[in-house]
Order: sequence, then C-alpha cells, then structure tokens
Amino acid sequence: CGITACIAERDVVDTLLDGLRNLEYRGYDSAGIATRTGTGVTVIKREGGIDELADAVDAVGPSGVAGVGHTRWSTHGAPTDANAHPHTDCGNRVAVVHNGIIENYQALKDELGADGHAFTSETDTEVVPHLVAEELAGGADPSAALRAAADRLDGSFAIAMVVRGEDAVYAVRQGSPLVVGVADGCRFLASDVPSFLEHTRDVVYLEDGDVVRATADSHEVTDREGRPVERAVESVDWQA
Ligand code: GLU
Repeated sequence: CGITACIAERDVVDTLLDGLRNLEYRGYDSAGIATRTGTGVTVIKREGGIDELADAVDAVGPSGVAGVGHTRWSTHGAPTDANAHPHTDCGNRVAVVHNGIIENYQALKDELGADGHAFTSETDTEVVPHLVAEELAGGADPSAALRAAADRLDGSFAIAMVVRGEDAVYAVRQGSPLVVGVADGCRFLASDVPSFLEHTRDVVYLEDGDVVRATADSHEVTDREGRPVERAVESVDWQA
C-alpha cells in the first residue's frame, strides 16, 4: 500500500517511521521497517498501527543508514506479523517491501520451494527476496539481481529493497507508482510524495520499467536491461 525508503549519511530509522506516518492516510493493516547492517538486515514489523511498530522499534533499537518501510493493505495472506512487510530471504541478506500483486507467485513459490527455499509468510511478496537472493548468490550485483527478479514477475508492483553491507536503496516499478526524493546528503524513495515532502520538494517521477539505485548523494535510473535513462528532477509546489 505505502512504501517509504531512505539512504543518508546518518541513521534513518526515525525518518522511516515519519515517512510511514505521512502515508497513514492511505489506510493499512500492518507496518514494518528494515535497515541494512554489516551482517544482514534488521526487520521489525507488526500487524496494527505505526504506534505499535514504533514501540517495537524502540524495544529493539535498530540503526542503519539505509532502510525501507511499508504500510500493508493485505491482498494475499491475512494481516499478521508474519505477513507484514518487509520480507527477507533465508540468509537474511535482502529485505523487500512491495505494493501491488504478483500474479504468478504460486508458481514461483513452488519452484523456489523445490530448490530448498523456506517461506515464512502467505504473501505473494515473499518470492521477491528469494529470487533476488538467488541472483546475488549467482554473482549478480544488487541492481542486476533486482532486474532479473522483476523479469520473473507477472502483475503490478513497486518494490524497494536494502541489501546486507550495501550503502544504497534499490527499487523497481511496473504499474504501481514510485518516486525519488532528492535532498542534500539524502535520497528518499516512496510510493507517494507526501511521505518525504517535509524533507524535500525535489522529486523524480519514475516510469514503468525503471530501476533505481540511490545512495546518500546520487541516484541512477536504468531500464530493465540496465541501460541508463534520464529522468528530470522536478520541484513540487503543492502543500502537504
Ligand atoms: N500483495 C502484497 C501483500 O498482500 C502487498 C499489498 C500492498 O500493496 O500493501 O502483502
């Protein structure tokens, strides 16, 4: 339902929670965040509201300069802690949030399951981190791994991702909105501009097929073949 993500030169946990609060107007049944650490990804997610999530975040005390967050409006699997996003792979190397529906998820789940992947949710989304992890294990860099995973998916999606040890956030869109926010020493990714409007009015509207790799001071947009594409930074003049 709602996606927020941030990469900065400082800790982004509070920024992710604020970004999720700014998306509450969309409606949701669960929420979660993930940050990347040196050894893996830290995921905290809950059925219920952002306040419940914030309490859980306070208890765990995660940190990180790169993170993703999600408010979920369930389509596949009940609203539970396990089905809330972000979702990870078996090795806890990748954390993914997803808006939309992956229509061929059952076939992918069967295939991945036969290859030894264990699933912990009933969502369509969970196939994505497993597909990405397979590509990473095969030697692909994270952007290439995300492109290869997206190529396997039928349906509509906006996906944002963090990867163990990578000071970056990654995203891809196909039929579901995604925007980049450009600030000094910080990049945002979100399904909707209001998520980060308190931080910046400089926005890049992504188009279907776009894949992004953002760092604290750069963002690269490529097509699904990995070729660079130009997307202008526009200034938003409306009020939140
Ligand atoms: N289909 C996904 C799920 O049910 C994402 C739903 C959403 O867009 O929030 O978990």
